[in-house]
Amino acid sequence: MKICVFCGSSAGFRPDYHEAAVALGRAIAERGASLVYGGSKVGLMGAVADAALMAGGEVIGVLPTALRDKEIAHPGLTQLHIVNSMHERKQMMADLSTGFVALPGGLGTLEELFEIWTWAQLGYHRKPVGLLDVAGFYDKLEGFLDHTVEAGFVRAEHRDMLVVDEDPVSLLDRYETYQPVAVAKWIGPTER
Ligand code: AMP
Repeated sequence: MKICVFCGSSAGFRPDYHEAAVALGRAIAERGASLVYGGSKVGLMGAVADAALMAGGEVIGVLPTALRDKEIAHPGLTQLHIVNSMHERKQMMADLSTGFVALPGGLGTLEELFEIWTWAQLGYHRKPVGLLDVAGFYDKLEGFLDHTVEAGFVRAEHRDMLVVDEDPVSLLDRYETYQPVAVAKWIGPTER
């Protein structure tokens, strides 16, 4: 497995977020999987990479030139790809990985999560996408996602594609047995 982790370039205010990033990085390495991520040493991004490296794992970073100094490249990675744009970064992370996990994070994290999830919904890939829900961080987002189904914009099957777990080991176990769904994206007026 190659697990792509999307997470905050900040650390957040609660220690739980940092602890979860460490636990996920370690869990990835301990099952012999590789970590793919944004290549930075700051915030939760640095924490997940450090933990995977400490546990002897392979860590592949993908960083756009323009963010090299702002996000500060991690100096100890197994591989660091410097790419020309954010689009290239996200494409490369998507191609390299066999599954995607979001930890707590900000707009960049949410954008990456939703992009890769919408690609799954369109059938561009069949890889698992999920959340490590730390200290209820994603509770309100989950409520809103349920609302998108109730309002007729998202199919329940597509909503349910998102694998949500509070424990990194059990999340990764579920990725091992993940079965992709194949349903049409668009919802007709008669399907209420
Ligand atoms: P954040 O969650 O905002 O701290 O960002 C986490 C990571 O997402 C950072 O490495 C950002 O560079 C990255 N990111 C990816 N796509 C975007 C985007 N469209 N806008 C902003 N940040 C992004």
